[in-house]
Amino acid sequence: MTLDGTKHNTINMIKQSNLQRHLQVLAKDIGVRLAGSDREQQAADYIAQEFQRAGANVAVEQFAVRERSVKRELLEINLDGCWQTFPSSLFSNTPGTEGQAIEAPVVFFESPAESQRTDLSHLTGKAVVHLGCHIESRDAYSRLVEAKPAFLLMVDIRHPGSVPLADGMFPTYTTALGAVPTVNVAYMDAWRWKVAGATSARLMIEGGMQQSVSQNVIAELSGEQTDQMPDTKHDLVFLGGHHDTQADSPGADDNATAVAGILECARILARQPRKCTIRLISFGAEEQLSVGSAAYVRSHRESLQQHGRFMFNLDSFGSPLGWNDLIFNGPDILAQQVRNCFEPKEIYFRFLNQVIPYADHFPFAVAGIPAVTLIRSNCTSGRFFHHRPDDDLDKVSTSTMATLLNGIIHFIDLLTTTNQFPFPPTIPTALQNDIDMYWNDLFGGWENP
Ligand SMILES: [Zn+2]
Repeated sequence: MTLDGTKHNTINMIKQSNLQRHLQVLAKDIGVRLAGSDREQQAADYIAQEFQRAGANVAVEQFAVRERSVKRELLEINLDGCWQTFPSSLFSNTPGTEGQAIEAPVVFFESPAESQRTDLSHLTGKAVVHLGCHIESRDAYSRLVEAKPAFLLMVDIRHPGSVPLADGMFPTYTTALGAVPTVNVAYMDAWRWKVAGATSARLMIEGGMQQSVSQNVIAELSGEQTDQMPDTKHDLVFLGGHHDTQADSPGADDNATAVAGILECARILARQPRKCTIRLISFGAEEQLSVGSAAYVRSHRESLQQHGRFMFNLDSFGSPLGWNDLIFNGPDILAQQVRNCFEPKEIYFRFLNQVIPYADHFPFAVAGIPAVTLIRSNCTSGRFFHHRPDDDLDKVSTSTMATLLNGIIHFIDLLTTTNQFPFPPTIPTALQNDIDMYWNDLFGGWENP
């Protein structure tokens, strides 16, 4: 069956003023929304209230997280016999130093190539300047931790920035294998340390991680029972985004854009007739590696595998200058249907048919549900203000958002008003196998609590 991309062009009702209002509340009035924090909770309360106002049935599901709670950080590097202070940002899911300064000799570790080294004992007791801040292998992480470095100074090598980005270590890695104090540092600072021959480093962090809770906010627009199609109302189409942010970032683009978007979609979709159920979810704790969406999929596994049809996730799609990337895990026919719907509106995507475990579509793909994430990139390393304090309201365009959201609403409307779901709930086998591999390694598989 085909979907007609020219039909329903009348649904064009995203209001930029509503998007602006949501963005303002989330990224300005509330601001930084770290997983497990009071501010994340405030954002969730606002989202629940707005979903209710849209006319959806709302549920909030809580889950355990570790909240990053840092009171003071001090990083000093010894250059030419002089201690100099540099900015740093403690990774989530790694410990502080309990307020004590730890001093250690500096060693540079060129991780992209040097992770091939079998013996890492030269890192023992050292302040390790680690090139690259994502360790995507349990084995590589385990060897690094077993070497017992004094602490890790992680350098984001995607973009030679002059401020440290905020980031985190995967919670399943640190729970299973332990962690040492780990901070992000600015690329250009690390460059300077290398050139000047830095000898030693001193790190002091007061605070660290504490046990807390985060939450998924779920809005349900149930499908209508019809005599001919009594079963379609159980089919589930998901629309998702996350409301938490990284440390010190107000997260206007990442990801107040998505929350504003799904709130506005809820308002509009609630008024449309539909044959299957639409579930809009704002996830907590995405920035610690999709902790909220993984918790959701684990606790609803059976019903998702039975009724889940499609997940459209949004993450950071407000850049005025940029292009649309669609992480795409689904059957070919779905890709064609996406094109048929969006291209007449002059919306084009670069399809990324690969495993990218860093967004909330991923756990849905693990459950075998065709799943996509829309991201608007603005440079080849992603977004130039990614996870930084300047991811603020100036970086997002409600007009860009509205154009994309009108396309998405149209697509969701096509899916939820057909008599028979227009594509099979399958992901190509080779891709699904890779997805499962990442799920087991990075997320600890289905059994992980
Ligand atoms: Zn995000």
